[in-house]
Amino acid sequence: MTQVRRVSVFGATGSIGQNTLDLIARDPQGFEVVALTGGRNVARLAHDAIRLKAQIAVTCFDECRAELEERLKGTGIEVASGDAAVVEAASRPADWVMSAIVGAAGLRPGLEALKHGTTLALANKESLVTAGPLLLSEAKAHGATVLPVDSEHSAIFQALIGEDQSAVERVIITASGGAFRDWPMEKLATATVAEASSHPNWDMGQRITIDSASMFNKAMEVIETKEFFGFTPDQIEVIVHPESMIHALVGFNDGALMAHVGPADMRHAIGFALNWPDRKTLPVERLDLAKIGAFTFREACADRYPALGLARRVMEEGGLMGAVFNAAKEAALDHFIAEEIGFLQMSEMVERTMDRLSPRAGLQNDVMSLDSILDIDREARLIARETIKTLG
Ligand code: NDP
Ligand code: MG
Repeated sequence: MTQVRRVSVFGATGSIGQNTLDLIARDPQGFEVVALTGGRNVARLAHDAIRLKAQIAVTCFDECRAELEERLKGTGIEVASGDAAVVEAASRPADWVMSAIVGAAGLRPGLEALKHGTTLALANKESLVTAGPLLLSEAKAHGATVLPVDSEHSAIFQALIGEDQSAVERVIITASGGAFRDWPMEKLATATVAEASSHPNWDMGQRITIDSASMFNKAMEVIETKEFFGFTPDQIEVIVHPESMIHALVGFNDGALMAHVGPADMRHAIGFALNWPDRKTLPVERLDLAKIGAFTFREACADRYPALGLARRVMEEGGLMGAVFNAAKEAALDHFIAEEIGFLQMSEMVERTMDRLSPRAGLQNDVMSLDSILDIDREARLIARETIKTLG
């Protein structure tokens, strides 16, 4: 008889969260749902908490609590609200936790789950970019496992199974090129929020979709690769692969390249993490290679994607620069969505914020604690806002 596993999903109402719940719901005997958390989408949170018989449902917004209570009245499901309640929910005994909150807000609940030795399936790439060393040392200290959920990192993880990592020469992560991959450079300055919010291949949350168009998502993933696997920056390459079917390749010292190939469906990477260390049948499309015909590749051009250059700088400077980069990127995205800055001004804003905070954030001043990360995160957002009037 298979053992019932206790699972919690943070960011349950989002794109990754919903895909995770889809897999959990297909095996009602296999899982017991402990906590589900969300934000403003209270109707969805309540619906899922009821259908999956969660112990507790948490919204990170206090102003959404009354509606959540109303919707869950009489069900026996506990209700809580606020950031502290989200972190508290991560301390509830569980075997497996999905970290799928968007943004730096995902860091604290993830750290809390690790403190309890829970296996953390990490979709929240911001945790690794802002606090990679802290997160992984916390996992080690408590004997907890962190499993990658980002498709590229799941692909690398799978290609490394049974391999000696010292035989790896390089890793290549693929990028679809996002919404504007075929746009002429001159047109990018005028790109609108609606245009940046549609992805050619993947169905994802709005923020990561825009980050894909600007390549900030890939920039985050390069840093994520360094932090998670410990590769050096010069071992990590990015290539544009418009079909989004090869997710990453690992190159070994005998010249072999091991590619991970699959449909653009996050339920593969989520399901791999959910079932790890086993592989189980997943409800994803099986590729018909003859029908697909060809996989193509293009260079990820530095002029077109300044975010990739900024990621290199983050890795060189180290210390708290990842936290500065992420916070400035989140702020830039907020200002772009609010139509206060243009598409190309996002990378300019991030670069200027990094320039201002570099003397304090770099490796020579490396004091990585949760407090130092949260302090510099706050400061970077303020500085990013101040740069608006100076942008070209
Ligand atoms: P979505 O925007 O679809 O979902 C985000 C989730 O976080 C929602 O449940 C949202 O609640 C909740 N949330 C928003 N703000 C806060 C906050 N301040 N505190 C707590 N919870 C909050 O995002 P995605 O699912 O697309 O992405 C989630 C994470 O996974 C991101 O880090 C992303 O980079 C990463 N990722 C996503 C992929 C994808 O395919 N979507 C692929 C690889 C990585 P509500 O909606 O109810 O307001
Ligand atoms: Mg990815």
